Parts: sequence; C-alpha cells; structure tokens
Amino acid sequence: MKALDKVIFLDRDGTLNPDPGYISSIKQFKFYPDTLTSLSTLAKLGFKFAIVTNQSGIARGLIKEEELEKIHEFISNQFAQSGIPLLGIYKCPHHPKDGCKCRKPETGLFDEASRQHDINLSSAAVIGDSSADVEAGKSKGMVACLVRTGRGSEEEIKLKDIGLEPDYVGDSLLDCTSFLCELYATTDVEDE
Ligand SMILES: [Mg+2]
Repeated sequence: MKALDKVIFLDRDGTLNPDPGYISSIKQFKFYPDTLTSLSTLAKLGFKFAIVTNQSGIARGLIKEEELEKIHEFISNQFAQSGIPLLGIYKCPHHPKDGCKCRKPETGLFDEASRQHDINLSSAAVIGDSSADVEAGKSKGMVACLVRTGRGSEEEIKLKDIGLEPDYVGDSLLDCTSFLCELYATTDVEDE
C-alpha cells in the first residue's frame, strides 16, 4: 500500500460534538466524552488534524460569525491543552443553494488546507458522520471513515443507497481512530 500522510480531517458536528442543529453559542457546544482522549492518542503517534465543517447557519442568519469564532477558539484551545496538533479549522459559511465550492461534499476546504500545509490528500484520512464527508474524502482518494454518532447511522443507509462505501464505519470516534491507528501502523508512513 502507498505511504500515508499522517493528517486526519475531522468533521465537527456529530463527529467531535453532539449536534443539536445550528449551534449558535459556546454554551451549546460540548465535545463527546471520548473526543479529546481519542485524538490525543493519535497525536502521540505523530498525527495532525484539520477540522472541516459546513456551517450554513451563517448564511441562514442563525449563527453569528463572532459566536462561531468563539466556539472555534474554544476548540483550538482544548486541542492545544490536550497536545493535539490542529492545522486549522476550515469552515463553509454558505447556503446549500449558493453553489459554492467549499460546502462538503465539495472539496474546497480540503484543497485549501492542502495548499496551506502541503498535505497530500490522497494519502490522508477523513472522519465524519455524514455521507458528504465520505463523498468528499473518497473523491480526493482519502481513507474515509463514517462514524455512527450524530447522523451517522442514517447516513450509513444513505451511503448504501448511493453505492458509496466508506473504508470503515465505527460506532464512535474512538473506534475510527483505533482503525486508523492500525491502518497506519501496517502501512509505510511518510514522516515529515
Ligand atoms: Mg457532521
């Protein structure tokens, strides 16, 4: 198998944190209990992370830009405190009808991160709870994991219907990070 870049793209809502829909204040945001510990285990093995998140609540007028920034500052701080290297939080603020190139399953956010941090996408991985995460990842040749938290269980059915198969489906973020741990351990990984 080809060498893999040790970069993992993470969806936000439903993957890192419960998703009540259009989180508009820091008070509504909390990580799943296993989020930071799962990621810090991988961080100790040299993995880096980038968050890629659709936030159409901005375009819909349901989320204020400054509140979103506060939430992302909180996430960045929590990652830093847990020793988890975060390359960036890439967000799409557009409405699905805007036809932008960054709303997943479009890959603009991945491309931006790739340009900024010289990431070989075809050897990186993505974890998300949506078919859009899997679709975006697969279209860039990434290892794509679906997590059954958030909308994941429903999305698993949707993926079967459209005939798109994730590389792995896990019940939790911990399941997915454990899978990636093993995958990368058995693959010739390129260290920087
Ligand atoms: Mg999600």
